[in-house]
Amino acid sequence: MDLLTPDEAAVLDGVVTALVEARRGIAAFQALEASLLASAMALGVSRADGSRGDGDMPVREIAAEIAAALRVSDRTVERRLVEAQRLATRFPATLIALTDGRVSRAHVDVIVAAGERIEDAGARAVFEQAVLVVAERESASRLRPVALLLAERVMPTTLTERHESAREERRVEVQDLDDGMAQLLAVLPAALAHGIRARLSAMATAVKDADPAESRSHDQLRADLLSDLLLAGEPSGHDADGQLGAIRAEVHVTVPVLSLAGVDSAPAVIEGSAPIDPDTARVLCAGAPGWERVLTHPVTGTVLAVDRYRPSADLRRTLRARDQRCRFPGCRVTAAHCDIDHVHDHAHGGATAHDNLAHVCRRHHTLKHHSAWTVTLTADRTMTWRSPTGREYPESPAPPGIAFTTDGDPPPF
Ligand SMILES: [Zn+2]
Repeated sequence: MDLLTPDEAAVLDGVVTALVEARRGIAAFQALEASLLASAMALGVSRADGSRGDGDMPVREIAAEIAAALRVSDRTVERRLVEAQRLATRFPATLIALTDGRVSRAHVDVIVAAGERIEDAGARAVFEQAVLVVAERESASRLRPVALLLAERVMPTTLTERHESAREERRVEVQDLDDGMAQLLAVLPAALAHGIRARLSAMATAVKDADPAESRSHDQLRADLLSDLLLAGEPSGHDADGQLGAIRAEVHVTVPVLSLAGVDSAPAVIEGSAPIDPDTARVLCAGAPGWERVLTHPVTGTVLAVDRYRPSADLRRTLRARDQRCRFPGCRVTAAHCDIDHVHDHAHGGATAHDNLAHVCRRHHTLKHHSAWTVTLTADRTMTWRSPTGREYPESPAPPGIAFTTDGDPPPF
C-alpha cells in the first residue's frame, strides 16, 4: 500500500476540512429550521390558548399551511412542530450546540430521546450539560447508551412509575413491506409480548406433534396461528354480550380485470395502499359476495362510470374508486376511513353528486369546517385547497387504472 503523495494528502486535507465545514453548516441550518418550527408552534399554542374551544385546531391549521408549502403530510409537520418545540423549550443547550455545529442532528435525536422523560427542568439541565460533553467527542450511536445511563442517574421516578406512563403508549400498527407483505406491529407491556410469542410457540409445537407431515416452519406456524386467532378469535375479556366477536375484518381490494381472468399479472391493490399478488387477489375475490365494475379512461385513469344498482350505494362506490384516499394534499388515509364531504355545503344548496362530493378524512374534514382553510372542486375532479395565507394547492385523485372493486352487492355481469 503506497503512502499518499504530499499533493494527494493536501487534496484530501482540503476535502476533509470542507466536509467538516459543510456538516457544521448543515447542523446550523437544521437548528434554524427547528427554531422556525418552534416559533410556528408557539404561535399555534398561543392562539389555541386564546380561542374558544376546538383545542389544537390553530396548531393543525398552521401545520397544514406549512405541510402544503413543503409538500409533506401535515401529520408529519405536526409531529415536527411538537419535536421542535420540545427541543427549543426543554433542551436549549442542545439547540445551541446544534446551531454551533458542535453536535449533529443525530446526536440531538439521541439526547432528546434519552432525556425527554426527565420532567424536572433542573435535573434535565444537569443531564444536558453532562451528555453534551460526551456528544461532542463520540458518534451518535456510541452516545446512546451513555445518554440513557446519564438520564437514569438524574431521573427522580422509579421504573414502576415510568412503566405506568409507558403503558399508555401501547398500540397496534401496520407497515407495508415489499412483495405483497406487510408487518403487523404491536407495542405492548413486555410480559404480554413475550407471553404471546411463547403461547404461539407452544401451539406451533403442538401442531407439529399432532401431524408429523406438517411442513410449515415454527416461524410460519406462529404467523398463521396469530392471523387465525386475531381474525376469527373472540375477545372474551372484552366481550360480555358477544358483539365484538361478531365483527369481521373488511379489506377493499382493487383488481385489474385481466389479472382476475389470469390473462395478465398486473398487481391488485389494497385500497389506497400496498399492491398484492394476483393469486391472493383471485382467492379473495372468489369469496366476495358481489362485484362492482369500474370503467376508467385507458390513458388518464379517470373513473368514467360505475355500473349502477342502487344510486346512493353506487355513487358512494364511484367516489371511492375515484378518490381511493383522503383528498387533502399528501394525506394517505384510505377512503374506507374517510367521510364523504359535500364540498359546497349541502345546507347551502350543494348537490349530492359526484362533482360536489369527495372523501376527506375526519382530521381534514374538521380542518375544512373549523379553520380558515377552504376548498373547491372543479369539473375535471381537481380539488383546490386554499390555505389561510392564500396559497393554493390543487389535488387530483389517484389514477386507479382499469379495475374491479368487490363489495357486498350482486354481480353485474
Ligand atoms: Zn386526510
